[in-house]
Amino acid sequence: ATPMSVMVGVGKAAEYGALIRQGEALQTAGKINLVILDKTGTITAGKPAVTQVHVIDGDEMHLLALAAGLEQHSEHPLAYAIMEKVRQDTIQPADITGFDSLNGQGVAGQHNGDTLRLGNRRWLVNEGLDVTPLDQAAQSITDNAGTPLFVALGKRVLGVIGVADAIKPDSRAAIERLHQAGIKVMMVTGDVDATAKAICASAGIDDYRAGVLPEDKADVVNEMRKKGYTVAMVGDGINDAPALAAADVGFAIGTGTDVAIESAAITLMRGSLHGVPDAIEISRATVKNIH
Ligand code: ADP
Ligand code: MG
Repeated sequence: ATPMSVMVGVGKAAEYGALIRQGEALQTAGKINLVILDKTGTITAGKPAVTQVHVIDGDEMHLLALAAGLEQHSEHPLAYAIMEKVRQDTIQPADITGFDSLNGQGVAGQHNGDTLRLGNRRWLVNEGLDVTPLDQAAQSITDNAGTPLFVALGKRVLGVIGVADAIKPDSRAAIERLHQAGIKVMMVTGDVDATAKAICASAGIDDYRAGVLPEDKADVVNEMRKKGYTVAMVGDGINDAPALAAADVGFAIGTGTDVAIESAAITLMRGSLHGVPDAIEISRATVKNIH
């Protein structure tokens, strides 16, 4: 495209709330045939809430106090859900020392001389804990598209907290537009398989990768590029920055962190997935106009 038509296209995209940082991205966007979406904050609203609490050792208030003791030090969306729950129920977070955040696994710290852990099943199993007494409860959480967060103090597995994040009202329609445009859509998430499956079913997504550690999301992008796809990656989290940078076109959802926005060619100011088909349509029209 000529510099002039690119300028017009960039201006048009801006009207739709899609800020294009690199003019080249506008030309590449029209060739996208695979869109990879992050889950939290991208397909979902990114405002998760506690929906279920199951306790097998101790009581519910104590379990939430322990969880909040850890999550008060975290900035993960899951942490906000726990903190909002204890604020509503006026539960005082437990005292924690030596807080540690393990990317894609959970959070840990010391409480009363024991290691307190809050995170996913895979991690606690790796730590040698027997979480099977909580599996039925966890299934009821994932059946409802929630994320199960297991809680253990030392070797004692205490309970599981379900946190669910609603799909944005327009995600399904935006994904349908991509399909109409002949574009394949897949989701990549650190969440467990059952939750990923439930989210994809309600968002109308045909393919997904679950249990992907943050640093491995870029590998998925590279793998699909090697298969010949022109890949768009859409994400919001600080964790998504390498995947956004690896894609042919990275889209940062407007609510995203500064880091993610810097590694993306296009920022969607409206926080809606409709910005992706909007940018692709504008790109196709821009490139067509000059031939
Ligand atoms: P996503 O792909 O949805 O952005 P992440 O990679 O950030 O997911 O996290 C993957 C999983 O790691 C979460 O589903 C959760 O089980 C666990 N996890 C990460 N951070 C936390 C936290 N602060 N508290 C509890 N669990 C966490
Ligand atoms: Mg994320």
